[in-house]
Amino acid sequence: MIHKHYIDGKWVESSRGETFESLNPATGEVLGVLSQAGPKEVEAAVEAAARAFPSWRRFPAPKRGEILFRVAGILAQRKEELATLMTREMGKVLKEARGDVQEGIDMTYYMAAEGRRQFGQVVPAELPDKFSMAIRDPIGVVAAITPWNFPLAIPTWKLMPALITGNTAVLKPAEDTPLMACKLVEIFEEAGLPPGVLNLVLGAGDVGAMLVDHPKVNLISFTGSNDVGREIAIKAASSGKRVALEMGGKNAILVMADANLDLALDGIVWSSFGTSGQRCTAASRIIVHRDAREELAEKLVERVRALRLGNGLLETTDVGPVINQAQLDRIHGYTEVGVKEGAELLTGGKRYTEGECAKGFFYMPTLFNRVKPGMRIAREEIFGPTTALIEVSSIEEAIEVNNATSYGLSSAIYTRDIRKAFQAIQDITTGIVYINAGTIGAEIQLPFGGTRGTGNGHREAGTAALETYTEWKTVYIDYSGRLQRAQID
Ligand code: ADP
Repeated sequence: MIHKHYIDGKWVESSRGETFESLNPATGEVLGVLSQAGPKEVEAAVEAAARAFPSWRRFPAPKRGEILFRVAGILAQRKEELATLMTREMGKVLKEARGDVQEGIDMTYYMAAEGRRQFGQVVPAELPDKFSMAIRDPIGVVAAITPWNFPLAIPTWKLMPALITGNTAVLKPAEDTPLMACKLVEIFEEAGLPPGVLNLVLGAGDVGAMLVDHPKVNLISFTGSNDVGREIAIKAASSGKRVALEMGGKNAILVMADANLDLALDGIVWSSFGTSGQRCTAASRIIVHRDAREELAEKLVERVRALRLGNGLLETTDVGPVINQAQLDRIHGYTEVGVKEGAELLTGGKRYTEGECAKGFFYMPTLFNRVKPGMRIAREEIFGPTTALIEVSSIEEAIEVNNATSYGLSSAIYTRDIRKAFQAIQDITTGIVYINAGTIGAEIQLPFGGTRGTGNGHREAGTAALETYTEWKTVYIDYSGRLQRAQID
């Protein structure tokens, strides 16, 4: 069976007849064969979304919400099945896959409820017998281009706010995790979403680029690499499209000398090696006070060596595979860079091929010590199970090192000193800050996103997402029956 595109309410195969495969990164097993979209499918999908827009934007928002509530209910009912497929397709361990699905459920319920909110603004007018307010309008056709690391959650972060506010959408999921996206779209269909409101095109980056270039796409919401995000931003600037970008991080956990080290260790291991380090919020720098470094390094090596690699479906697995061969090579390339730059490799640093793992893309959790802030492994996003210990002498230096990267997504600090905690909240310049918790664990009801190279000022999740997917329309109603001149009369 070939998995198809979903265009105007129908599942269709590509006219080119080309296909690609979805592989299990733990075993190499082929999970599915998918139709690869060409210009014709992209054209049809965008046209369908554009045609559906006028009626969907007039469809009462609470009714749109009812459909989203049904989607959330089905997601919740099928959570286990979806999580299992996710572990097979993406590799993350089952409990994390369940978390990914849960995040999708949470986001869907949250945005469904926005069907009865989408608060506007009503403020007094400065003239008599005049009423003024601002209401939200949808933007049009949204292209949602998503990565493989949160194969269900990220599509919901984009589609739910887009649809509840009256936009229509074309989803282009990552080529490594297309089956999850097909499942999500099937669930929308089952929930009764009208044809054309959500369309799905499958394929690689060229399909994403076709969407970005399509004149009837009004808004591009992208999560992925910096290089692609920048390319999209440049194109969008010249075509005048709205664009929301989320492009990763170089996140740090700051450990002060007064920290509860055991708590910090839990946070470091979870943030650095959860999802095999393939989260945009993963901690890849541990900025530690010199008085705590030795003890932290020693205990951390022990903890990292105890992590069990394997198929994420097994309850005994702590760390699953990385997504594909290219990522495996890239991660190992950074190990070589770190060693060459003079960092001390404490543990890991190579591919893991024991037993069944030989068939998949496993990389040993890797820890570098004596890393200097200027080294490439301390500056560039690795997106793998690699983290670097950087020694500092004060909280001021820790914050300075934390902030001095081209990314700005998430930071964490472990300290028992309330002054230091607040100093960190005040002076850290990333979009997310955690106190006495690791760099991962965002909740969907608050803004998610980052500063500097991480994004372009937009935020996902919470009510902040509504800003991305709507335009403000300001309305003045003058019932005085005469000409009234603002600022003059
Ligand atoms: P990652 O490193 O997470 O794979 P990418 O930026 O390569 O990040 O991919 C993220 C998403 O962007 C995927 O769906 C991918 O197919 C898509 N993509 C890749 N290249 C382009 C491009 N030039 N234009 C639009 N989308 C692209």
